[in-house]
Amino acid sequence: MSYRRVALIGLGLIASSMYWAMKRTGAEVHVTGYARTAETRETARRIGLCDEVCETAEEAVQGADLVVLAVPVGAMGRVAETIAPHLKPGCTVTDVGSVKRSVMEAVGPFMPEGVHFVAAHPMAGTEHSGPESGFAQLFDNRWCLIVPGDADEAATAALETFWRSLGANTERMEVDHHDLVCAVVSHIPHLIAYTMVGVADDLARVSDQEVIKFSAAGFRDFTRIAASDPTMWRDVFLTNKQATLEILGRFTEELFALQRAIRTGDGDTLFEYFTHTREIRRGILQAGQDTSAPDFGRIKVDK
Ligand code: NAP
Repeated sequence: MSYRRVALIGLGLIASSMYWAMKRTGAEVHVTGYARTAETRETARRIGLCDEVCETAEEAVQGADLVVLAVPVGAMGRVAETIAPHLKPGCTVTDVGSVKRSVMEAVGPFMPEGVHFVAAHPMAGTEHSGPESGFAQLFDNRWCLIVPGDADEAATAALETFWRSLGANTERMEVDHHDLVCAVVSHIPHLIAYTMVGVADDLARVSDQEVIKFSAAGFRDFTRIAASDPTMWRDVFLTNKQATLEILGRFTEELFALQRAIRTGDGDTLFEYFTHTREIRRGILQAGQDTSAPDFGRIKVDK
């Protein structure tokens, strides 16, 4: 790792996982941290998260070679404005936000001359949040998308090396393509889960107890996803409006087509559709992107 001092701004799931993953490398790196509330800073101190927990973001970034913005997407710009005058010349600022265009537009203008801003997005997470939810293995074999825009090549390459040292694979992506890809693979699936859990809650004919008692894998997975942090996901949809609305349009078209097939008893259409989606699932397992799945080993053997 080429960074000797790293500052984590925001001490939630992603930042705390980064801290434990950095320490796992055994590299000599001094990590400072800052969180908005005294409660989170206290928790961080209690569990030994960061070598030093600072009372202000300005203090945390002093002398840092790498500054990581790990706050909700909607808060990135304000944090960048606060820390900008205190950044070490030549340092790299990065973020971990789930949306890239809005973050780059919010943060970029505040970056002083000589400071490199390289946007990034680790494609890893859980439904848990806060400083106590992080763990060192979160990024293992997951993708971290690097969205350099016109950032300095050496700074970009150093950030890629950093993420690989935390266990992730890296890939560079153009900003709008990133936001579209994430709308498909992450943002809309979350919206569907939120909606489905909301629908079940609205169905007065199915009691709460029945929903909990009989929730087999499908619905249980939805409830897990729908437990994700409301602030984070509110910001994702507000800032990735164009791509999420585009994919949502496509989704409703497909849903109507399936609805029609069910109404008209068109079994062939349903069978073909489900066969195709099963292939997609097998592709994900074979790419090693869901090693926790109970069908992981079986599908690998079947292939
Ligand atoms: P988290 O666990 O909820 O932690 C968020 C942190 O940001 C907390 O330290 C919180 O401080 C701070 N914060 C919240 N609102 C703030 C504000 N208005 N101003 C300054 N600080 C604020 O979140 P996370 O899951 O680590 O997510 C952090 C970033 O990673 C987000 O941009 C998210 O899009 C991205 N991301 C998340 C996932 C995921 O699955 N969770 C995956 C990839 C990327 P307090 O605790 O003091 O309030």
